[in-house]
Order: sequence, then C-alpha cells, then structure tokens
Amino acid sequence: MTSAPDWATARQHQDDDAIEVVRLDDSRGLGVRARRSFAAGAVIHRFAGIVSEEICQHSLQIDASRHISGTRYIGYLSHGCDPNSRLDMAGFTLVALRAIAPDDVLTVDYADTEDRLHRQFACRCGAASCRGWVHGRDEAPSDEGLAWLAEHDAR
Ligand SMILES: [Zn+2]
Repeated sequence: MTSAPDWATARQHQDDDAIEVVRLDDSRGLGVRARRSFAAGAVIHRFAGIVSEEICQHSLQIDASRHISGTRYIGYLSHGCDPNSRLDMAGFTLVALRAIAPDDVLTVDYADTEDRLHRQFACRCGAASCRGWVHGRDEAPSDEGLAWLAEHDAR
C-alpha cells in the first residue's frame, strides 16, 4: 500500500497544474497524469525535494550515492518498459519522450535512474518490449524475480 504523500516540505514551490497525482487502480496505486498536452521533448515538470543517501519507496536516484525524496509528483510516476517520459536527474526535470495527451498516465523506466529498486516487481505495463520483471540497472533479479522469469519465459 502506498503511504500518504508528504507534501509538507515542498508544496509551495512545486505545485504544478499541468500534472496531478491520481489513484490509478487498486493494483497500481498512485500515478501521475497529464492535465494538458505536451510535445515530444518538452519539459513537463521541474522538481525539488529532499536530497539524502537514503533509498525509500518514492525516492529517485540522482547519482551514485544521492537520492531525492519528498517530491510533489515524481515519486509517484509509474514504471513503463516503453515509457512516454524520462527523468533528467542533472537538470531535475521530467521530459516528454513523445507527444503526451491530456489524461495520459506519465511513465518512466525505473531502471533508467535506479541502480537498485526499493522493491523489484512484476511489470504489467503492456508494452511489446515489456521486460516482465523490473529491477535496478545495477542489480540482478531477486530470487522472487528469477522464479517469476522462469515461470513466464516457459512459453
Ligand atoms: Zn513492462
């Protein structure tokens, strides 16, 4: 279950009426939806938060040792194996990879930023290129992931 957002620290300087955090459904929990259209390459959002060396459920990795948490929106982005957005962790921006329409759910590839995930998971993004089991770019699938992959590759 997703914990309550901690808006308190960053709210004033991060409110953005172009995107919103929404409950997608019970299995996917919270996500971020566009409230207007964006062209491919456009900056969707600029973010801020609390930078530390801690990894938590909604943190995102900035570099080898630092993570940002307490962000207003981006900690709630959904993963997609063929995402419509990407995070620029040098410029602290969310950028459209392709044209985005109002109400589109924004997705990023978690393995683009994260060496290790807070929790690996079976992906249901629906992309033709879906990797099936999502883990960080610098870690192997967990035992649970290996079991999942063995079961689902046996087709
Ligand atoms: Zn996927």
